[in-house]
Amino acid sequence: MMNTPLRIAGLLEHAEKWHADTEIVSRLAEGGLHRTTYAGLGRRSRQLANALQRLGISSGNRVGTLAWNTHRHLELYYAVSGSAAVCHTINPRLFAEQLVYIINHAEDRVLFFDLTFLPLVEKLAPSCPTVETWVLMTDRAHMPEATTLPDLRCYEDLLAAENNEFEWPLFDENTASSLCYTSGTTDQPKGVLYSHRSTLLHSFAAGLPDCFNCSARDVILPVVPMFHVNAWGIPYLAPMLGCKLVLPGPGLDAASLYELFETEGVTFTAGVPTIWFGLLTFMREKQLRFSTLRQMIVGGASCPPALLRAFDEELGVTIRHAWGMTETSPLGTVCTLKPQQLRLSPDEQFAIQTKQGRVIFGVDMQIVNDEGRALPHDGVAFGDLLVRGPFIVADYFGTEPGQLTPDGWFRTGDVATIDAAGFMQITDRSKDVIKSGGEWISSIELENLAVGHPSVAEAAVIGVPHPKWSERPLLVVVRKPGQEISQEELLAYYDGKVARWWVPEAVEFVNQLPHTATGKLLKTQLRKDFDGYQW
Ligand code: AMP
Repeated sequence: MMNTPLRIAGLLEHAEKWHADTEIVSRLAEGGLHRTTYAGLGRRSRQLANALQRLGISSGNRVGTLAWNTHRHLELYYAVSGSAAVCHTINPRLFAEQLVYIINHAEDRVLFFDLTFLPLVEKLAPSCPTVETWVLMTDRAHMPEATTLPDLRCYEDLLAAENNEFEWPLFDENTASSLCYTSGTTDQPKGVLYSHRSTLLHSFAAGLPDCFNCSARDVILPVVPMFHVNAWGIPYLAPMLGCKLVLPGPGLDAASLYELFETEGVTFTAGVPTIWFGLLTFMREKQLRFSTLRQMIVGGASCPPALLRAFDEELGVTIRHAWGMTETSPLGTVCTLKPQQLRLSPDEQFAIQTKQGRVIFGVDMQIVNDEGRALPHDGVAFGDLLVRGPFIVADYFGTEPGQLTPDGWFRTGDVATIDAAGFMQITDRSKDVIKSGGEWISSIELENLAVGHPSVAEAAVIGVPHPKWSERPLLVVVRKPGQEISQEELLAYYDGKVARWWVPEAVEFVNQLPHTATGKLLKTQLRKDFDGYQW
């Protein structure tokens, strides 16, 4: 066989040649929609590659981006990785100190950013000595009149000065292609360095029918941001398959998303539960329906069953639950039912759909107890979830090796069950498990049940020290506007749904819950808020 290295530029060359006129539509930070094609993406990515060379960027250098999902960000994905440099996507939702830490740790030489982030970047710049060039991702007309950034460059001017001839270099497929830092709720963020090979293998896996199940006939709108874990691989998957891409830019509110779904004929989308919750509420209020959307993926955080049911039964969309993490590129499991399960009753099928699902090819998993011994796949035993495979991290960027178990597994930090059919269900983050009387209680299961109550908008469960049981679950609830519900009613709601000793010890009502930069419940903060809590 030909020994052709797997390279990200190969995806672009394929799309340019075989899907040249397939559209890429973006909503821009400056406002308005922008339309291009894969042919256009190819031309501009090569112009950008020339510009990067002129800026002195060479193989292995890190180029930072602080940007929304737009065609310009996509050009950076291809131009930077394609020319053997490392595309370091930075999550603007992190705290300023974390951003400074990340930029310095990655030693970014250039930082590309959207107009939205100009004030933020001006604030960070004095603490980021490795950055030699600042590039604002806009045209001349939108450049600021004054800025504290030294020699701020204009993205469109950089491109305009270059021609679109550039030969993508050939190199080993294990060359680093992109870098993403974990959100780091307790420790400093840690960098995961992807390679061309891992990215391509992940894309092949993502496109499979039991995974994203997309084809050239699909129109994909990734709500998941390109600034975090490469938007779950969609920027690579779409050119691989030749799908039309719709990039929502900063417009992540329900009304803007719904408008794009409808006007651009979107058939497939992926996002976190919070986004889908907002969209559902909006569509219910306005009594709207989808005309083209046929399937969606929800992941990144546990999806409450009520949300899955609403999209499936009320809005007629095939919604599937997926699990993954920055360290797994990110797709690990997707919940697509097997044929024998399709013969079960609707309720039994639904119970499976709430799980995080089964592994995609390229990922192997197991659950182990505290001593590292493998636990049975019976859907009941829960333990630490370990994974391995060619798109799973081996070591964090710039740290000492030694992350893996002696036999080569990555510890996810998640606690899960696996059933006999191979369906995994996350029961907790290992740090969030509640240890009551020597037994473990799943905070996620208690939260999912609470949000199934019609008066509950959001819920979190944390373990709080208890004199007799060492820890007991405390349920913290945000009520829906105008809804009254008492502690007694809420606790009674658990009757018959979980073992009696799992029922939370008490309920506290709050106006809002703390979230991480990526929209996950920030339980470390919540535990601080309830530090010293008296039962
Ligand atoms: P991140 O690396 O920021 O994408 O976060 C990864 C973590 O998010 C995982 O280790 C899980 O704890 C959590 N997570 C991701 N997807 C799911 C899911 N479908 N259900 C529950 N937790 C999830």
